[in-house]
Amino acid sequence: MSFASDSKRELCMIENKRVCCLKAECYGLLLFSKCFSIRESKMVCENGAVARRLAEAAAVSAGVFAEVRSELHRKKVSAFTLSIPGEDARRQMIESFGHSTTEVSLHIKRENLKNDCCMAAFLRGAFLICGTVTDPQKEYHLEFSTPHLHLAQELKAVLEDVRAAQLSPSIAKRKNNYIVYIKESSAIEDFLTLIGAVNSAMELMQIKMYKEAYNNMNRVSNCETANLDKTYSAASKQIAAIALINDKLGLDELPADLREVATLRLHNPEMSLREMSERLAISRSGVNHRLRRILEFAETLGTPEEEAAAQRAEK
Ligand SMILES: [Zn+2]
Repeated sequence: MSFASDSKRELCMIENKRVCCLKAECYGLLLFSKCFSIRESKMVCENGAVARRLAEAAAVSAGVFAEVRSELHRKKVSAFTLSIPGEDARRQMIESFGHSTTEVSLHIKRENLKNDCCMAAFLRGAFLICGTVTDPQKEYHLEFSTPHLHLAQELKAVLEDVRAAQLSPSIAKRKNNYIVYIKESSAIEDFLTLIGAVNSAMELMQIKMYKEAYNNMNRVSNCETANLDKTYSAASKQIAAIALINDKLGLDELPADLREVATLRLHNPEMSLREMSERLAISRSGVNHRLRRILEFAETLGTPEEEAAAQRAEK
C-alpha cells in the first residue's frame, strides 16, 4: 500500500456529519472526475474505495446511478472504470450543482460551498478523485490534476482561502493537464489534517522529524564539530591567557576595552567571534584584535605552560 492509497482509504472512512458538507464533498468528487460532462465519458480509477465513494456521491447528491466496472488495467493492476450512463442522468447531475450543460468551461460554483465547514469536505472530494500525495520518505509533494484550466486556477484560489493554514499552492502544466500542487511539508501536513486524513498527516510529521534529526546528526558530525573544535581551541588559549592575567594582576588591571572582551570570553567559552561581536556591538575584527592584545599581554607575563611549570617547581 502506498502512502497515497493509505491516506485515501482513511478519507473514505470519514462520515460527513452535516448535510452541507456531504453535498460539498460530492461536488468535489464529481466536478473533478472526468464524468462531469454531458457527453458520455469514462474515467479509470485505481482505488476501489474512491470508486465506491464516487458512486455513492452521484446517488446521494444528484440521485443518479454511476456505473463502476472492475477491469484489468494495462499493467495488470486491477482498476475501475467509472461512468454515468444516460444523457438525462448526466444533465440531472450537472444541474443539481447549479451548472448548465451548455457551459463552455468548467468553474467551481462557490454557492455549493455554503459554510466554512464545507471547504474541507469539498477539498477532500477533489483530492480523492484527482489528487495524490508522494510518499514523504521520498519527497514532499501533493497534487491535483485536471484538464480544465479554470478549475485548476479556482482550486488554487480555494486552497489559498483556507484560513487555518498557509498552503501556498502553485500551478504547472503537465502534458494535457494542469497540476495544482503543494510542496512544503508543513503545508501538506496541514492539508491532510484539514481534509480529515489525520493519521497520514501524523505519519508525515513523524517521517519529517526523523529525517530532520538524521540530517542534523550528520551535519553536526560532518562540519559543526570541526568548527566547534576550532572555536574551542582558540577559546581555550584565550581563557588560559585571561586566567593568567587574572591570577597575576587581576582583570581590573586591563584597559576597559580588553576587560570587557576578557570577561565575556571567560563566561562564554563556546561563543564564536561573530556572537561576541554582536554582543559587544563591535566588528568581528575588533573583537579579534582585542583578543590578540590579551594574548600578547599575557605573553609578557609568561605563557600558561611556563606558569604551570613554575607552579610545579614551587611545590
Ligand atoms: Zn458544511
